[in-house]
Amino acid sequence: MNKPILMVVDDDPQVLAAVRRDVRARYREQYTVVSAGSGEEALEAVRELKARGDALALVLSDQRMPGLQGTELLGETRELYPVARRLLLTAYSDASAAINAINHAKVDYYLQKPWDPPEEKLYPVLDDQLDAWQAESLPEATGLRLVGDQWAPRTHAIKDFLSANLIPFRWLDVSVNPDARLLLDAARVTPGELPALFFEDGGVLRDPQPRDVAERLGRSLSAAESLYDMVIVGAGPAGLAAAVYGASEGLKTLLLDCHAPGGQAGSSSRIENYLGFPQGVSGSELTRRALTQAERLGAEFLVPLEVTGVRVDAGYKRVTLGDGREIVTRAILAATGMAYREHPAAGIATHTGAGVYYGAATTEAPAFAGRRVFVVGGGNSAGQGALYLARYAREVHIVVRRDSLRDTMSQYLITQLEKTPNVHLRPMMEVTAVEGEGHVERIVLTTADTGAAQVEDADAVFVFIGTRPRSEWLPAGVLRDAKGFVLTGRELAAAEAFPRTWKEARQPLLLETSVPGIFAAGDIRAGAMNRVAAAVGEGSMTVRLVHEFLAL
Ligand SMILES: Cc1cc2nc3c(=O)[nH]c(=O)nc-3n(C[C@H](O)[C@H](O)[C@H](O)COP(=O)(O)OP(=O)(O)OC[C@H]3O[C@@H](n4cnc5c(N)ncnc54)[C@H](O)[C@@H]3O)c2cc1C
Repeated sequence: MNKPILMVVDDDPQVLAAVRRDVRARYREQYTVVSAGSGEEALEAVRELKARGDALALVLSDQRMPGLQGTELLGETRELYPVARRLLLTAYSDASAAINAINHAKVDYYLQKPWDPPEEKLYPVLDDQLDAWQAESLPEATGLRLVGDQWAPRTHAIKDFLSANLIPFRWLDVSVNPDARLLLDAARVTPGELPALFFEDGGVLRDPQPRDVAERLGRSLSAAESLYDMVIVGAGPAGLAAAVYGASEGLKTLLLDCHAPGGQAGSSSRIENYLGFPQGVSGSELTRRALTQAERLGAEFLVPLEVTGVRVDAGYKRVTLGDGREIVTRAILAATGMAYREHPAAGIATHTGAGVYYGAATTEAPAFAGRRVFVVGGGNSAGQGALYLARYAREVHIVVRRDSLRDTMSQYLITQLEKTPNVHLRPMMEVTAVEGEGHVERIVLTTADTGAAQVEDADAVFVFIGTRPRSEWLPAGVLRDAKGFVLTGRELAAAEAFPRTWKEARQPLLLETSVPGIFAAGDIRAGAMNRVAAAVGEGSMTVRLVHEFLAL
């Protein structure tokens, strides 16, 4: 297998020689460094690489070149190599053009000239970008391969588990990919045993549960300690932040999730407003960084493990898992966030996983290349989902009950949607049914004011509305509002049941629930801000409060 390619582009021969020298000095063992003296030459080279089937890891291009400019080259490169990292090399005076490029050409980063010393200004950036590329790319013939039926809910569950847990795999749809049949025949896998997961060592898992996959990949599902200072339930942004701070501040910390790290944020294709990431960051990249950081600092992470209950036993808390086991801890952080509520339209339940997906735009988008898909909902998550789907689908229709997206979606997303020609807004409409034989084929839309129904062809429906807190696993003593969101700190005083529930001489700490030592952070909390930064802030704050609680 050829080494992956790292391409540098600049029209100034001296700069090109210098950047090639510095890049080769560090990366030539693992990558082939290719250089080009113009945008056109580089694009030609990228096309040739694609035709040869070579892997392109990264393009670092000057912005100002005669002819094809850096941003144009990087935009074209994205079409051919969607996961290759695209970096712009700019002069200081071009910084505003570079920031623009982040928005328009979806550039991953911009570096400024000069980059001396490269150990400080060039290599950390390239290391980081190449790590991200490696996490997303998978060589054609190696690694995990998942064979299944695109319309089978069980296949979707495994696909979603692998994607969300950042486990690279190759997806082979049995009905369209001839390689899939060859693999199945060779291993004598019958249609009833799908999906089948093929490992590099030749092993096969037939119709596995996510738990079987985790175990086969050598992941531990058992807690290492008999007693923890803090068990964090839910590894979304709030839980991950708490794990980073808990572990770094000396708490024996265990983080658990029933599905994958990252939570709702992990399913986001691009978070544009999280501090410190001017070019935006995908949910999976933010998750990868946060989890690496938490584990490096000493937090233990177990997935997939569902927490089903908590018992308070002489001050200790016993966290009950779905398989009946218990984990003992002195404090708990409930960071289980929110989930989408089932859409009530006829046919939705029967087609879930077979063309109807909750969130999951990043997992399923490639399967709908060239198709006609619908997004239900007008919030930011729907907007991001629609933009991501538009990269693959022929048409993306956003169905909303209101007359516009103005009151429900951030302006930056509305602007991007308006500029995306294959996205169509369908205002004042509601989905009233989904139909099809074995998978989604049609959608029934009803006009909000007249009640008139129309049937349209549809290949998939992505639902982004109706959220509910995931607080059902908490003990009854944890007070909630009418919708099930958890009350914490000062808000508890207003709850009618509070005086009967809280028996301590002190008041609850800021993010403490009505059960001493059980805290809540992020979207699960009543009055939460529903933002990544807010969840991260609350998760981090909890650690200080847990310290206070443990010292009582
Ligand atoms: C598609 C999308 C795009 C978004 N984009 C943005 C954006 O651009 N900017 C922004 O600021 N915000 C954005 N948000 C909102 C943001 O992602 C959330 O506010 C944030 O993720 C909340 O974090 P959390 O940690 O509180 O909970 P969640 O992210 O909901 O994580 C909860 C975790 O708990 C786990 N869990 C649940 N129940 C259990 C159980 N019983 N046992 C074990 N584990 C359990 C879940 O599997 C999940 O991983 C977006 C949300 C979505 C859905």
